[in-house]
Amino acid sequence: MKIGISACLLGEKVRYDGTHKRNDTLLDLLKGHELIGICPEREAGFPIPHEPLEIRGDRVFTSSGKDVTEQLSEGAKRCLDRIADYDLLILKSKSPSCGIGHVYDGSFSGKLIEGDGVFVAMCRKKKIALCDENDLERIKALLNGQK
Ligand code: SF4
Repeated sequence: MKIGISACLLGEKVRYDGTHKRNDTLLDLLKGHELIGICPEREAGFPIPHEPLEIRGDRVFTSSGKDVTEQLSEGAKRCLDRIADYDLLILKSKSPSCGIGHVYDGSFSGKLIEGDGVFVAMCRKKKIALCDENDLERIKALLNGQK
């Protein structure tokens, strides 16, 4: 399968704080598949490191209050343009870009709410399977050809 995966899960140091979140359990499961790293925030041109971002309402802000909605949306759109022939996307949980189903609430206090990251919200309009990095059972099922 051709699988798009959050670049930080591959071990690329692209996170806002200059670190990665390599997920070896996940990568072991994905051995033998074609993995393509994607990072909407890198694509948007944010420097690494940069201030943390969170979604508040329908906007995205840095921790110092700068509205970066348009910048992040442009990066997410550029990523979206590349995934047409991918079979699956596996994305980093809770991120304002890559989070599926839950994101931080915009108060920068660690509180989660229901919602999708900016890139995920765009992907929902496409016919592509989306999986949170931690949903290993669903990932296994999809790799085995189950819906
Ligand atoms: Fe990882 Fe996505 Fe954040 Fe990039 S935007 S660092 S891929 S969670």
